Amino acid sequence: MRTPLIAANWKMNKLVDEAVATVSALKPLVAGAAKAEIVVCPTFTALYAVGKALAGSNVALGAQNCYVKESGAFTGEISPQMLKDTGCAWVIIGHSERRQIFKEADALLNEKLKYALSQGLKVMFCIGETLEERQGGIMNDVLSRQVNLGLAGLAESDFANVAVAYEPVWAIGTGVTASPEQAEEAHAFVRGLVEAQFGAGIAQALRIQYGGSVKPDNAAELIAKPNVDGFLVGGAALKADSFAGIVSAVQ
Ligand code: PEP
Repeated sequence: MRTPLIAANWKMNKLVDEAVATVSALKPLVAGAAKAEIVVCPTFTALYAVGKALAGSNVALGAQNCYVKESGAFTGEISPQMLKDTGCAWVIIGHSERRQIFKEADALLNEKLKYALSQGLKVMFCIGETLEERQGGIMNDVLSRQVNLGLAGLAESDFANVAVAYEPVWAIGTGVTASPEQAEEAHAFVRGLVEAQFGAGIAQALRIQYGGSVKPDNAAELIAKPNVDGFLVGGAALKADSFAGIVSAVQ
């Protein structure tokens, strides 16, 4: 039985006070949510304060990116060690905005994944096709490439600390959600790729989150699908009550 993983990706939103206020409102709303693991990923500047505000709660802290070195001359970057220092347990790697806007390629994302894991962070590793790729009939090729190159070289023991987030780019921030059937088909395909590369045991235990315009009113039908193991939520996670509504759809 895979425990659903529900994570808020706040992207480049919220100053420190607002971030702390949001998690302070969220904590009591999700305190009774025993059937899901919950993570909030604020922007870097809010991590420390949000981590303090979350202390003792059932909501873990995550970051949205990290680099592949501990320290040094890497202007503008942040290390897994620094994230852990703020209280982070999780980091998102390979979000489509990192892939598309910041041109992060599969090889770098694989390096980031392995380095973050080696430093004791858990990782939500994002994959997903664009609309052009889906309409062009190459969706499965794209997912295969992202999974095979992205997860290459992981050890069996690493998988306890990895979740894959399937986020079709056409559904992110657009209000267009993949149908439960589309999500299930992609998740089953991804699980099959992981099985082919790492075996059935790892594939069956791996949590595959869905991301892309998840809201309180579509979360229940998505989570009902057997291969959907939680969510990575952008817009609808910015407000405590709406994110809590998604968490409660999973209870
Ligand atoms: C995301 O950014 O990971 C995401 C899924 O965004 P949204 O929920 O706004 O589509």
